Amino acid sequence: MMKRNNCNNCGTDFEGNFCFNCGQINSANNRLAFSNIVKDFFDNTFNIHKGFFYTFWNLIIQPSTVSKSYIQGKRKTYTNPTRYLVIALAALATMLYWTQSNDVIVNDSFQGFSFLSEQLNKSMRLWDLRLLTDWTLLGNLIEALVFPFGFYLLFRKLKYNYSELLVLSFYLISNSIFIVILLDGLPKLLIDFHVPVVFVFGAIIIYYSYALINFFKDIPLLKRIFFILIGLIIFVLLRFFLIPLILAILFPI
Ligand SMILES: [Zn+2]
Repeated sequence: MMKRNNCNNCGTDFEGNFCFNCGQINSANNRLAFSNIVKDFFDNTFNIHKGFFYTFWNLIIQPSTVSKSYIQGKRKTYTNPTRYLVIALAALATMLYWTQSNDVIVNDSFQGFSFLSEQLNKSMRLWDLRLLTDWTLLGNLIEALVFPFGFYLLFRKLKYNYSELLVLSFYLISNSIFIVILLDGLPKLLIDFHVPVVFVFGAIIIYYSYALINFFKDIPLLKRIFFILIGLIIFVLLRFFLIPLILAILFPI
């Protein structure tokens, strides 16, 4: 016999384990117990019992499968991309706090773009630095939002919309943040060892290539590799040229 319940969250009369209207579990109709608090803490904070580490590991070994499952409607198996990005950004903020590392490689040989004024170049550089250091969370969010543009245009034939490619973007950007934390942040924090930037950067490039080559595999290989390169170039132009340029024009510093 299923017990009838009046959902305490939305008022709907339901039977079974979950309210069919809002999804609240029927045990929420019982009084709050300390075990609920503990369970909620782990569920909501780390999403541990199945979600987070499961998602992380699967995103490392088969990033394309995870993204496609989510896009195709399998939405409960993995931590959803928005939440995953929020967890990654929170982890990044924590790491930056603990390692105090706002040290970014500044390439001083770069003189700016000759077709832009000196003032504009200076302002763009400062914005660029700001997005990499003090405003790194905003910087990463912007990166995640502009990442799909080039791929959307180039792979139109596959009929992905922007939001669907955003799923891939959120997962990849988040996991590249975790790669930075694991390869760069942790060694720095634990044994004060500085991993060469080339190594971390290389790992991210390999990861992105692996993910993208699998994700767009319905396109012939050579064309796919070419489009992926162009897509990445569009991303770099947007992120390191257009966005700093717009910010520098709107908010000169
Ligand atoms: Zn309900």
